[in-house]
Amino acid sequence: MTGSLAVVGLGPGDPRCLTLEADAALASAQALYGYGPYLDRVPSRVGQTRHVSDNREERARAAAALDRAAQGARVAVVSGGDPGVFAMGAAVCEAIETGPEAWRALDVIFVPGITAMLAVAARIGAPLGHDFCALSLSDNLKPWELIERRLDAAANAGFVIALYNPVSRARPWQFGNAITLLRRHLPPSTPVVFGRAVGRPDECVEVTTLDAADEKNADMATLVIVGSPETRIVTRPGKSPFVYTPRAAVKVSA
Ligand code: SAH
Repeated sequence: MTGSLAVVGLGPGDPRCLTLEADAALASAQALYGYGPYLDRVPSRVGQTRHVSDNREERARAAAALDRAAQGARVAVVSGGDPGVFAMGAAVCEAIETGPEAWRALDVIFVPGITAMLAVAARIGAPLGHDFCALSLSDNLKPWELIERRLDAAANAGFVIALYNPVSRARPWQFGNAITLLRRHLPPSTPVVFGRAVGRPDECVEVTTLDAADEKNADMATLVIVGSPETRIVTRPGKSPFVYTPRAAVKVSA
């Protein structure tokens, strides 16, 4: 029997945002691997085993899942959002690149999911309507200086910036520093969106501006979108505002 591995994106949290492809991959798996809160979102199915691991154990989880697949099982590894965005996809590829030859012979598929920045953007309009980039503020796997350089470059290049992993218990000051840095490049009126736990019961979405943005509004479950100088807020009577970035960019002078 040939084993296989599916690296499956669960989307932001709402079961309606799980794709049919992801649901099928989860249903046919014999063994599921993932971080506990993500596995909790997967309906239990008879005969399926579950292997819970800590969020920081991506490498070990990838290796365990690949081992199981190499023994002949149909295995699924789950990620929140999309597995290719700051998640298990790259950990699995890295394990295959550096691991035993047998892992390269396995059937491996990556099943996309709705990533957090798309789920948050859809709540408030079209902030990613023109050029944008995504950055993780976690300095667990890269030095903070590199993050600052990328923030400088992104803001100077006029990108809308989606910030993943703004804070965690072990990283209390990074997001405040990032906001201070962005204030040096961008107008005070630049729209900022805090999207917390989107698609889950405790969802909370706030639209503000860069000068008023309060770093305490972000936690581990928050995705922050910082607009470009072209991003606009459209107020509506009695309804929440839209935030959008027009599709026509300002002309760059020669
Ligand atoms: N693979 C995931 C991202 C993992 S990194 C994806 O594609 O969405 C974890 C970060 O994603 C969190 O710190 C937060 O910034 C963001 N995030 C994940 N789920 C979210 C949700 N439901 N609402 C808002 N942000 C979320």
